[in-house]
Amino acid sequence: MQDWDLRCDVLVIGSGGGALTGAYTAAANGLDTVVVEKTALFGGTSSYSGASIWLPGTVVQERAGLDDSTEKARTYLRALLGDAELDRQEAYVTTAPEVVNFLERDPNLEFEYQPFPDYFDAPGRMDAGRSINPLDLPAETVGPLRERVRPAPIVDRAGRSHPDETLVAGRALIGRLLLALEGTGRADLRTETAATKLLTDDGRVVGVEAVTSAGETLRIRADHGVLLAAGGIEGSDEMRTANGTPGRAEWSMGPRGANTGDMIAAAVEIGAGTALLDQAWFCPGVELPDGSGAFMVCVRGGILVDAAGRRYLNESLPYDQFGRAMIAHGTEAALPSYLIFDSSEGGPVLPAMSIPEVPADEHLAAGTWVCADTIAALAEKIGIDPDALSDTVERFNGFAQRGVDEDFHRGEDPYDTFFCPPSDRPNPALGRVATGPFYAARIILSDLGTKGGVTTDADARVLREDGTAIEGLYAAGNTSASLSGAIYPGPGVPLGTAMTFSYRAVRHMLT
Ligand code: FAD
Repeated sequence: MQDWDLRCDVLVIGSGGGALTGAYTAAANGLDTVVVEKTALFGGTSSYSGASIWLPGTVVQERAGLDDSTEKARTYLRALLGDAELDRQEAYVTTAPEVVNFLERDPNLEFEYQPFPDYFDAPGRMDAGRSINPLDLPAETVGPLRERVRPAPIVDRAGRSHPDETLVAGRALIGRLLLALEGTGRADLRTETAATKLLTDDGRVVGVEAVTSAGETLRIRADHGVLLAAGGIEGSDEMRTANGTPGRAEWSMGPRGANTGDMIAAAVEIGAGTALLDQAWFCPGVELPDGSGAFMVCVRGGILVDAAGRRYLNESLPYDQFGRAMIAHGTEAALPSYLIFDSSEGGPVLPAMSIPEVPADEHLAAGTWVCADTIAALAEKIGIDPDALSDTVERFNGFAQRGVDEDFHRGEDPYDTFFCPPSDRPNPALGRVATGPFYAARIILSDLGTKGGVTTDADARVLREDGTAIEGLYAAGNTSASLSGAIYPGPGVPLGTAMTFSYRAVRHMLT
């Protein structure tokens, strides 16, 4: 007999997009649901996100008149992932339309298509993408819940104030899911409550032990199941080192102190298998004055060079492929790298998005960006051979003039030019680096979270090393090993898989 402080049907650990989709699925189906979130705010990394959600072939793409379908998405995933995780690939693409139909039945939840290209040239690709986004959420609609949603990185990570009255992107997703959950009258949503241990009875997971920020220990019983959606190991240098995950906690984009692999460790303790713990949703990071990283995306200009002043990749690559090219180039050569850019946008304007963005003068004062009137002087300031950097810039400027990147084929893929402003250049992704003064920004390896974790089946049941399921235990999002292995197929796969497998987990609990 165990003593319980709290009892429910479904217990969800974490409060990102996957967690809250699972919780809503349970509560909307009449199950008493408890959500426990370790930090003081709901939303995790999902709140920071752009909330592109790769849920293909749904009614949303149909409304937008897109030529998308389950079949097309299946072809695309299969082309990229091969036969690996076929059951989960299939579960993902066939359940996506159902997830959206189910969610949109609630008046708080509505999605729209927003263009963002798929990341690989493969059969079934959509050049302008197929991912969907939640509609913005006006402050008056979200009400007091707004204060409980994790702020955007510009506020939460960079400490700036932001006139964010309307919740957009990831905050809109979290705000909408919280509203929907509240509307069910079946959900008990708790912050500052960290799950610490999984409790079992005869091999079945029946609940968790959790600790509140006030130091109170709670034993929570879940009669139908426990869903782990507590992020990955991105925030733990100890776990990253133990598993050989490139990058650092400080450079990662997960909220500080949040995703430290607690639930992966707890599941391993009761026999769960793990996979892909050395993998992440990688990206380049603009090094910020405080030493942390900012997600660099939508690169529209400049060139990236290594410690020898040489280019080594196509700077317009989708961010995960960019990060992986940095890893392949090696720590010595690539960390840090430098984005060399000029003043053609009217001063020290990074030709890319930096999330969060810190003003140029702060970078220049801190030395994370440096400035010089000539390329050779810039090279000297960052400790690179001036002749090497000058040669690299000269060679690239020749490519820009001819419109062909003979070294790395920048601008040949539709993704490469998607974020470039209209121009009369022969190749919109190749802009000459020619207008002084010149700048060098330190670029490090960041990630949007790790993607290894406990192994799961097509119903998100957590598996032991021998492939058998641990009764009562489910996992989704970055707590589970991703079905996409070392590949990031398209915008919104992290959230799309997290939401789909959380939904399937609860559907399985209901059977
Ligand atoms: P999270 O959303 O991080 O949620 C985990 C939660 O669990 C956290 O709130 C954490 O505090 C809590 N937690 C941890 N341990 C415990 C514990 N022991 N007990 C209780 N709670 C715990 N992905 C997309 O698909 N589309 C995008 O457009 C996109 N844009 C992005 C933009 C940015 C700037 C960033 C940083 C990421 C983006 N991503 C995007 C990636 C995506 O946001 C994450 O991969 C995804 O949200 C991870 O979801 P998760 O549920 O695994 O973790």
